[in-house]
This record gives sequence, C-alpha cells and structure tokens, in this order.
Amino acid sequence: MTDEREARLLASVPDGLFIGGEWRPAEGGRTLAVQDPATGEVVKEVADASVADGTAALDAACAAADDWAATPARERAELLRRTFELVRERTEDLALLMTIEMGKPLAEARGEVAYGNEFVRWFSEQAAHVQGRYGANPEGTGRMVVTQHPVGPCFLITPWNFPLAMATRKIAPALAAGCTVVVKPAALTPLTTTFFVQLLVEAGLPAGVVNVVNTSDSGALSEPIITDPRLRKLSFTGSTPVGQTLLRQAADRVLRTSMELGGNAPFVVFDDADLDKAVDGAIAAKFRNIGQACTAANRFIVHADVAEEFTRRVTERVESFRTGRGTEEGVTIGPLIDDRAVAKAEALVTDAVERGATLRTGGHRLDRPGSFYAATVLSDVQAGSDILREEIFGPVLAIVPFRDEDEAVRLANDTDFGLVSYVYTENLARGQRMIERLQTGMMGLNVGVVSNAAAPFGGWKLSGLGREGGAEGIHEYLQTKYTLTPNPFG
Ligand code: NAD
Repeated sequence: MTDEREARLLASVPDGLFIGGEWRPAEGGRTLAVQDPATGEVVKEVADASVADGTAALDAACAAADDWAATPARERAELLRRTFELVRERTEDLALLMTIEMGKPLAEARGEVAYGNEFVRWFSEQAAHVQGRYGANPEGTGRMVVTQHPVGPCFLITPWNFPLAMATRKIAPALAAGCTVVVKPAALTPLTTTFFVQLLVEAGLPAGVVNVVNTSDSGALSEPIITDPRLRKLSFTGSTPVGQTLLRQAADRVLRTSMELGGNAPFVVFDDADLDKAVDGAIAAKFRNIGQACTAANRFIVHADVAEEFTRRVTERVESFRTGRGTEEGVTIGPLIDDRAVAKAEALVTDAVERGATLRTGGHRLDRPGSFYAATVLSDVQAGSDILREEIFGPVLAIVPFRDEDEAVRLANDTDFGLVSYVYTENLARGQRMIERLQTGMMGLNVGVVSNAAAPFGGWKLSGLGREGGAEGIHEYLQTKYTLTPNPFG
C-alpha cells in the first residue's frame, strides 16, 4: 500500500511524454500502467507513446540539434551542474520513487541516486575539457588539425534495473558533448527518468534537447527511429539478445552504437584470499539490487580448500537478510521486478539441484503478494548447469569449487560474456596474472563493486561495445574530424 507521502510524490510526477519542451499525452490518449513489484498494485498510469509520438520526439531532437551543438561548452556544463545540485536536493524523493517502481531497498535507492548523479557531475566537468590537436605532418608539408564534434541526435534506450543511473550515464555525456536526445526508458520504470528530466527542465534545459517517450511497444517505436537517416547515434543498455537485434537495425545506416549488454561475472576466491573480505565482497557483488545487476557475480569459483568455509559464512549472512518491500525499515532484499524473473530464478535453481548441486538455503518463492524469491545459496554446482551459462538476475549465489589457478582461469573465462570479474587473493603476483588472464572489460581485485562515474564501464565479448563514464564516456557522443592545412611557411 502506498502511504500519503508516496501518493503525493506519485501525483507530482508528470504522466505525459516530454517532447519539444512540453509534457503531452500520447497519441489517442493511450496509457500504460506502472506497478509496484512488492505488491503488484498499479501506482500510476503514464502516457504510452505510439510510433508517431516517437517520430515527433526525434523531430524535436533534430530541430534543437544545431543550437545545442553551438551552445558554449561552459553553458552546457553549468546546466548539468545545476541539475546535479537539484538531484542532490531531491535525493529522498527520487530514491522513494525508484523503490516504489523498481523494488530495491530504500538504502540502495539512495545509493543509486548518489551514483547516478555522479555521472551528471562528472560530465559537467568533462564538457569544457574536450581536446583537439594541432601538429606538423611527418613530411613537413602541412599542418594537421584534429577536432571533435557532437555526433548529432541520439536515441538512448535504458533498462529497468538502475532507472536513474542508466539514464544519467547516457544523458549527461550526450548533453555535455553537445548532442540532443530521445530517451526511451523501460516501460516497467518510467517514473524515475521522468522525475530526473523535470529537474533538468528546472535547471534550464532548452526545449527539444531531451525528449522522453515511454512505450509498452519498444520494438515498434524504436525501429523507425533507429533506421531514420537523421539519427546519428544509438546507445542501448539491456539484454544481449535485444542489443543484437538493435545492432542489426543499426547496420543499414552504419549508425554509431554503444551497447552495454548482459554479464555473467565470475567471482574467484583463491585459497590465499582474506575470507572476511571475500565474504563481504561476495554479498555486495551478488545481492546488490536483489541480484539484478549486469555486474552481479553469477558464478562463485572458489578454491576447494576454502569452499566449505566460504559457503558456510555466506550462507550465515544470507540467512540474516530481511526480505520485504524496500520502504520497510531494515529490509535488505526487495522483490524481483516481475513474476517472470521469479520463474527464471526458480527454474535455474531447480535445474542446478537436479544436476547435483546442494541447496544450502532458500530455493523457493515467498508466499506473499509481489514478486519475491528467497535469497539462495547453492554449493557444488555441476558443470553443464544452466545457472553457470545464463545470467541469473536474481538473489541466487552459485558456488563451484576449483583446484588450481589454470582451472580457475579456464572456468572464469568459460562464457560468451565479458563484462566484469572479481578476484580475491592476497598474493600480488597472482592478482597481476589474473588482471592479464581474465577476459572482461572490468575487474574488481579484492573489491566487490567496481562502478564509478570516473571509470570506463563496459564489456568484452557479448557484453557490449563502447564505454560509459570515465574520460572515454564523452567520446561515445563525439566524432573526430582531421583537417589538413598547408605548411604556413610554404
Ligand atoms: P531488455 O533488453 O529487455 O530491455 C532493455 C531496454 O530495451 C528496455 O527499455 C526495453 O523496453 C527495451 N527494448 C526491449 N526490446 C526492444 C526492442 N525490440 N527494440 C527497442 N527496445 C527494446 O533488458 P532489461 O530486462 O530491461 O534489463 C536487464 C538486462 O540489461 C540484463 O541483461 C542486464 O545485464 C543488462 N544490463 C546491462 C548493463 C551494462 O551496463 N552492461 C547495465 C544494466 C543492465
């Protein structure tokens, strides 16, 4: 049940699409329902964009593109900085909204507001620091000028699991670079993005620079935008199969793309690890966001000599979790996003147990309204189990023992994904070897959470293309021009 404060907050969030600087209903007045996954209740109806609404949003982004590209970088930076301050002031509201529509515990939602807002601050700082270069060509006959230019109108598609951070990680660098955007949030969690855009407007966002279209039919709305010759860039965060579909659509026009896709992170614990640190890291890497993070540890690869001790300790921690609606005091595990996610966790656990894994705790859905699955630990998971191949996206910790370093590396790399890996060892040389041997775009060495706005976030293999955050993040929205001029001295 939403209480009075929640009702007021929900009522304050616009229910329209944001196109050309105006909130407006969808064509034909269509709406989609937003639910609280902890109760299954509908908390708000918002506009459900049609294909024509999507095109109107792109029209608006194209109309604003030249003026925004010509806006001095300092002004773009200051808009982002003002937004950063506003988000900070509204942390409690944004966090509560996120908990209502997505389910994560309030403390984690506050953490996401801080993390997501760091992208706004970071790219406000980057905006005025885009560098070019000037120099003689090797022959001495000319001067080479290298300049950076905004890529142009962008289409940004975000997932439901980090509704604020995945939006700011795209919107902030695009705006900093001088690009206008159409944002399509996940239909399950449109309210957080809408609220954030309201703060951008309060900070002085010009009309058409950011446009937001929520829709219950992402495929129908997106394809005409992606194949429109005016679009210059697609940035997508979501599952690998959808990313592959969008890459195919983008191919005809050789559209610039960034793809932040699925993960299947190995979490390797050597026998020389500090087990206290490894257990803390494991809990963070697995259960943050109720296990629904692309960076979530998916496979715990633990040296046989410490596997039992590690399993005993993580099980003890998991049994102390409190599950419930994220707004309740002391809750550490909220609901999964929907019943499909519960069914998936259930199927993966059943398959693993049938193939010989031992269920140490959990392993069942909770008998209460909402999409709840008990935090679960499985040990001795056998090769060939689905849970080792698929992204779990739920609160299930699966442990596989190993005997030596080569076997650990082989198991860790035995996946098509390559987003992030975690390694626990107190042996420096071994840690260095693992940096070189693990095939992932990111790695936590004796840490369980790696995300940082100042770092290049992204994956190898089927986990994606491009990087978000860091000095690299703004370059996803810039294109390079090289100009040759004659040697001015003849
Ligand atoms: P999803 O692929 O189902 O949806 C992501 C977004 O794409 C949503 O906005 C959805 O509406 C939209 N979408 C779905 N089908 C589409 C289509 N045919 N055309 C255009 N848009 C379409 O993923 P999800 O369930 O929302 O998110 C979970 C997935 O996202 C996981 O695989 C997770 O690993 C991944 N993820 C990756 C990162 C990263 O940075 N690598 C971060 C967060 C989540």
